[in-house]
Amino acid sequence: MKARKHQNTKIVATVGPACKDYDKLLELVYAGVDVFRLNFSHGTHEDHQEVIKHITRINDQVEDAHIGILADLQGPKLRVGKIQDNALELEEGDIVHFVNKVCIGTKEAIYMSYPKFARDVKPGERVLLDDGKLVFEVVETNLVDKVTLRVIFGGVLSSNKGVNLPNTKVSLPCLTKKDLIDLEFILTQPVNWIALSFVRSPKDLKDLQKRIEAKNHPAKIIAKIEKPEAVKNIDSIIKNSNGIMIARGDLGIEMPIEQLPVIQKEIVHKCMQRARPVIVATQMMESMINSLTPSRAEATDVANAVLDGADAVMLSGETSVGKHPVKVVEAMNRIIDQAEKNYHLMTFRPVPSEKSSTFLSDVVCFNAGRTAGEIKAKAIVGMTSSGYTAFKVSSFRPKTDICIFSDRMHMLNTLNLVWGVRCFYYDKFTTTDGTIQDVTDILKNAGVVQHGDYVINTGSMPLHRRLMTNMLKVTIVE
Ligand code: PGA
Ligand code: MN
Repeated sequence: MKARKHQNTKIVATVGPACKDYDKLLELVYAGVDVFRLNFSHGTHEDHQEVIKHITRINDQVEDAHIGILADLQGPKLRVGKIQDNALELEEGDIVHFVNKVCIGTKEAIYMSYPKFARDVKPGERVLLDDGKLVFEVVETNLVDKVTLRVIFGGVLSSNKGVNLPNTKVSLPCLTKKDLIDLEFILTQPVNWIALSFVRSPKDLKDLQKRIEAKNHPAKIIAKIEKPEAVKNIDSIIKNSNGIMIARGDLGIEMPIEQLPVIQKEIVHKCMQRARPVIVATQMMESMINSLTPSRAEATDVANAVLDGADAVMLSGETSVGKHPVKVVEAMNRIIDQAEKNYHLMTFRPVPSEKSSTFLSDVVCFNAGRTAGEIKAKAIVGMTSSGYTAFKVSSFRPKTDICIFSDRMHMLNTLNLVWGVRCFYYDKFTTTDGTIQDVTDILKNAGVVQHGDYVINTGSMPLHRRLMTNMLKVTIVE
């Protein structure tokens, strides 16, 4: 099997029954997956543990593999309970009641998994069910345990369907009881990224961060943007997270759908400006859950995400439960490849901001990309233990390959999510000259550079002090 050609835009694939075995995961890696997402809305800890073992083994056995692991916490996803005969037919104008005691659902009483709903909700607010297929409006609440609603868009409501409350200020914590149990498990595992669902403000992220730090775990946080409140607070959320997922599934239910394309572009650009990796998620290749080819709209969607500048595009059901997990990754890869040949169509590239506390280093990273482009260098090389150089050099979306060296394997696997970054293990860090010689040799052996090529080295001098990036050098490969 041939390893995947290096591309800038990374592929995140959700693991599920359709691809959870070692051989399938390996096939997916060869097809182009860079990061696997474990969705904690499904599966047991034992299931996830098995998958993590497989991925760790792939990283050990496949040369140069640095496959990242993203654990996705379910968060306060709301659901109705069991429905009588698993079907409640509802027509426009019907009146129904939500209660907070578990029961078999009828029009008189439908259980919803949100104890303080009656207290938090206000008359006139909308309640969306089953991915927005049914729409209710709140008529009144007794402020304790019962909410009366009128059906605006009817249909058949079945058991355990999801509920979205786009207008309600939901008082539930971002980390539910289930999330805390899942987190305890996750923090014993070599997970690189932890995604938090239904983030509303930076406060939600701080709570998770504290818990990660308390366990001394190196995982970084991804904030899933899927609430209107999060869109409103986007600047402070980006600032207080390590990465962003544009979770278009729930976001597309909670916001008017016509706003989604523009929100996506704005968030991607804001993330580039702050050097935070950003994932575009959900329904990218949805029709390939069953079919052998994507729709025209899907192919265009993936290409547009690439040209927006996203770090990664994500697959959910397509790889977790779909019929053709490998084919979908291959198809996505081809679309990315074609779009990346047309980067002149990319409209936004950030520049260093004087307001940044790391302005000096930012300028060095920016000019690494610019100089590399001007002299047609074959690689930009960075050394990192914090990841800063990788995030920063990448954020300017240079035309040259970004080769990142670190002595921290976990960090390399983390950086595999980041746009354009290729990861290499290196643990000597002797003198600056010695290290530059060593890493150039590694790149030569890996076939990235040849005799006579130019390489741009970034780094910090003196090396042993591991200061911020303060050096830029042109190396001619011998
Ligand atoms: P989910 O998140 O798949 O966990 O719901 C992604 C989304 O909402 O788009
Ligand atoms: Mn979601």
